[in-house]
Amino acid sequence: MGLIATIKKQEKQVINLWDTMRRLVVLGGGESGAGAAVLAKKQGFDVFLSDSSEIKPKYKELLTKYEIPFEEKQHTEALILTADEVVKSPGIPDKVPIIKKIREMNIPIISEIEFAGRYTDAKMICITGSNGKTTTTSLIYHILKNAGLNVGLAGNIGDSLALQVAEQNFDCYVIELSSFQLDGMYDFKADIAILLNITPDHLDRYDYKFENYIASKFRILQNQTAADAFIFWNDDPVMQLRITNYESQKNHATFYPFSEKKGAGVKAYTENNKLVIETSKNTFTMEEELVALTGTHNLYNSLAAGLAAKLMGISDDNLRRSLSTFKGVEHRLEKVAHVRGVEYINDSKATNVNSCWYALHSMRTPTVLILGGTDKGNDYTEIESLVVKKCRALIFLGVDNAKLHAFFDGKVPATTDAGSMHEAVAQAYDLAQKGDTVLLSPCCASFDLFKNYEDRGWQFKACVEKL
Ligand code: ADP
Repeated sequence: MGLIATIKKQEKQVINLWDTMRRLVVLGGGESGAGAAVLAKKQGFDVFLSDSSEIKPKYKELLTKYEIPFEEKQHTEALILTADEVVKSPGIPDKVPIIKKIREMNIPIISEIEFAGRYTDAKMICITGSNGKTTTTSLIYHILKNAGLNVGLAGNIGDSLALQVAEQNFDCYVIELSSFQLDGMYDFKADIAILLNITPDHLDRYDYKFENYIASKFRILQNQTAADAFIFWNDDPVMQLRITNYESQKNHATFYPFSEKKGAGVKAYTENNKLVIETSKNTFTMEEELVALTGTHNLYNSLAAGLAAKLMGISDDNLRRSLSTFKGVEHRLEKVAHVRGVEYINDSKATNVNSCWYALHSMRTPTVLILGGTDKGNDYTEIESLVVKKCRALIFLGVDNAKLHAFFDGKVPATTDAGSMHEAVAQAYDLAQKGDTVLLSPCCASFDLFKNYEDRGWQFKACVEKL
């Protein structure tokens, strides 16, 4: 064994010994929390998990299996404030009293990804951005898996990273990272970091300061060096200035910008209806029409994923095959059915205005748009001209549609109200003409009428199938 490997091994042994003397408290008993608790237990920590709500039976079973003490529907301070370190679920905002107390006592709070990253040497491909994370993460996973790599999918999708580190032995992970996860990350390093775009979202968790949210997204770059790759959308107006600042830092990550068009330094782009991806080893090309995902936004996602794949050494043939076979992800511009010459598309995951903009942008026919729900402070001017240009009718699906009426009435031939998905789809059926598209792309969260965006999308599909 070489000197560095020996030192690394000894370092790990010291960390393991140190862990057995430490108390780790996990807040939140969902996917990430339960996984973190299992990993901590395996590492010998004194672990305790606490959730202020009810914990799902599946996670309770997991905790019981690993003999991990836990509580639900309460936070017992005496059991929590004795922690040496806390792993917090990304869903818990900083303003809740128990988090304030933990911070007052200077107990470090980290995310499950930060924690899990300590116990694996696997290569980390991390994806963040305001829109497109799940699509790009799933696409990269699809490419690497098809190429035969021993790869795990983690973050906001599938099993938690911590559980996989505890129970599996993957060589690399493709990880979807939200800004909330990034907030609890300090020493973790992405070997390949992807920042897709930044538009305002979740501002309620960032003191309503866009700057804070942007800073959170840029944490994906922390600890990267020139040996690591940073893939980003070259034309994002919000990112440009910060990237120029970052570039002035010493030993920064190696840049792999992507853009719709070829330009100085751009490594992935389109030219003459072909995707082009340039790396130091070769130049990959593929006819755009053979790429399975459609729409401008998905072109960006495919370019970002293609760059990551080439950096992982995937062959051109494998990459071409996977880009042409990827089925997309449910609820993201998902084609549902053709009924009497009208196409129905489920984009229920469009919970902000920007993602609806991309959906409308990719429409090639007159469109009946179903939108509405819980408004997160939306500004509809961003989609106004596309709506005026492309929409035959708007169906407002929500408990309170006043803001939508105030903004859109008079700008399109028809607007209607629907109090349920059943009503919305029935109205869409009446309003759409042969050759049109009915698009569910709500711009809003779903909690007024649905359990979540998946429930909204499933109800849409079920109603369409009954037409
Ligand atoms: P996320 O995981 O970041 O929420 P998803 O892949 O789930 O992203 O897509 C969410 C919504 O954003 C969908 O409506 C999808 O059509 C749209 N979308 C996907 N990729 C992009 C992109 N690169 N830019 C803008 N919108 C996108």
